[in-house]
This record gives sequence, C-alpha cells and structure tokens, in this order.
Amino acid sequence: MKLSRTQYEEMVDLARRALPHEACGLLAGVGDIVREVMPLTNVEHNPVGCGWRADSREQLRAFERIDERGWELMAVFHSHPRSAAYPSERDVEHALYPDARYVITSLADEGEPVVASFRIVAGRVTQEVLTIINDVDGSGAEHPSYLALN
Ligand SMILES: [Zn+2]
Repeated sequence: MKLSRTQYEEMVDLARRALPHEACGLLAGVGDIVREVMPLTNVEHNPVGCGWRADSREQLRAFERIDERGWELMAVFHSHPRSAAYPSERDVEHALYPDARYVITSLADEGEPVVASFRIVAGRVTQEVLTIINDVDGSGAEHPSYLALN
C-alpha cells in the first residue's frame, strides 16, 4: 500500500492529538494508492488509554463517501500511545475486514513514531510493506520504520 508523505503525517498527527487515547479512522483509495485519510471519533476512551471503537454513524458516512467516490476501504487505522506498532490480542479479535489492512501508529518510542501495516485474516497477522510516496515527484520509498521492524 502506498500513501503520500502528507497522508502519513496526517495519521501521525491524529495519533498525537488523541493522546492519551487512541486515534482511529479509515484509509480509502484505489488499487494500492491511498486517496484519503478519514479520521473517526474513538468512542471507547478508557482510563488506561487502551482500546478503540469508531463512532458507528461516522463510520457509516465514511463508507457512503467511499462508495460515492468509487474508492475501496484500504485500511483501518488506529494508534498505540504506549505500545508497539503491532496488533494487540484485542485488535486481532476485532479485525472484521479480511480484505483491508490494519495500520498502527505507535508513539511508544520517544523519538520517531512507528507506522506499520498488517493483514489480519482468521486471527493470523501478517505484516505488509508500507510505501511512503514523495508528495512532490511521486517517487516511493519503503518506509524506514517498516524496515526497522524487520
Ligand atoms: Zn491496537
């Protein structure tokens, strides 16, 4: 999956603004190119800041918009304020879209955020390459955070 530098930064920014809670939303696009970052309200704030559930009305509207534009649901994203960029047991249990990716932004490291993309099918987690496309010339590079995880 490919997303632009701006979209990547938008997702990281959402994660930071949601602190101490988790941010969540959808990535919509065509083929393997993300066209839009769609933030959704996390309605499941809890004291330990662990957990997320997207507002169902907002999610419905987002799905309508995706249909109207002829896009596809490419990924469901959320953030991990204090844990690694890897799906939690709960994330795996709640992964309802086998055709979508699950993108996690981790802010656990004080330095650079880590963003990683996964497929979760029947409880099995597989990491995928996330390519960040240069906004200016459209050339892509594998995201260093992804490479660091391997
Ligand atoms: Zn999670």
